[in-house]
Amino acid sequence: MLNKDLFYSTIQKFDITVDEDAFARLDKFAEMLIETNKSFNLTAIKEPDDVTVKHFADCLAIFNYVDIPENAKVIDVGTGAGFPGLVLKLARPDIQMTFLDSTKKKLGFIESVLNECGVQGEILHMRAEEAAQLSKYREQFDFSTARAVAALPVLSEYCLPFVKQGGTFVSMKSAESNEEMNEAKMAIGILGGKIQEDIVFDLVENMPRRIILIKKNSQTPTKYPRPSAQIAKKPLK
Ligand code: SAM
Repeated sequence: MLNKDLFYSTIQKFDITVDEDAFARLDKFAEMLIETNKSFNLTAIKEPDDVTVKHFADCLAIFNYVDIPENAKVIDVGTGAGFPGLVLKLARPDIQMTFLDSTKKKLGFIESVLNECGVQGEILHMRAEEAAQLSKYREQFDFSTARAVAALPVLSEYCLPFVKQGGTFVSMKSAESNEEMNEAKMAIGILGGKIQEDIVFDLVENMPRRIILIKKNSQTPTKYPRPSAQIAKKPLK
């Protein structure tokens, strides 16, 4: 269901190779996404060309800017129907991916794609702020990723506690997120992180995207993440 020509022409400027097997897995995911979306709302992006560019190429762009070592542990926070986590995993099955979301039904969809593609992944049905307080998940990951989950001050409180010292939180944002980024600087510092790179690029012409790389320099104080109600009431700023 991916538009193959459009897919390869869009990702050709990225420093990534998607071989035939990886393309077949991604294509199966796209097919299942479009099919399942007819009965259960997984995505507002439905047309195969849009799915190809705005979901798949968009997520693969991460590989152009982040060097993810072999067998790295990654958690995709608020993964929804699997963006960016499932795209990264199907392109690079060596990555140890945890898919976290508070909506069980979406995780069920991810599980069926993984099964169909013969790829393993950890499914975690929890809220981020609860999972990040468990020693099994806290500061256990080389990377956390998130796209379209929350504004950066709140998102940093969800995502940075999962990352080991020396690891990176990869935040996919729209290019118009300057204000949000400025607001988040203090929160990121409190949580033990530092903005390392702020990359704005054109996914295709006139489709700017932003990837913010936040390095984890020191342990997150144990009081973070706070319970959901406190985060919502008083975001770190
Ligand atoms: N990342 C996907 C994407 O880019 O298509 C999904 C984005 S969707 C708009 C936001 C997702 O984040 C939803 O599936 C929602 O259930 C999940 N989410 C929001 N807050 C969360 C939290 N605190 N813990 C876990 N999941 C959360």
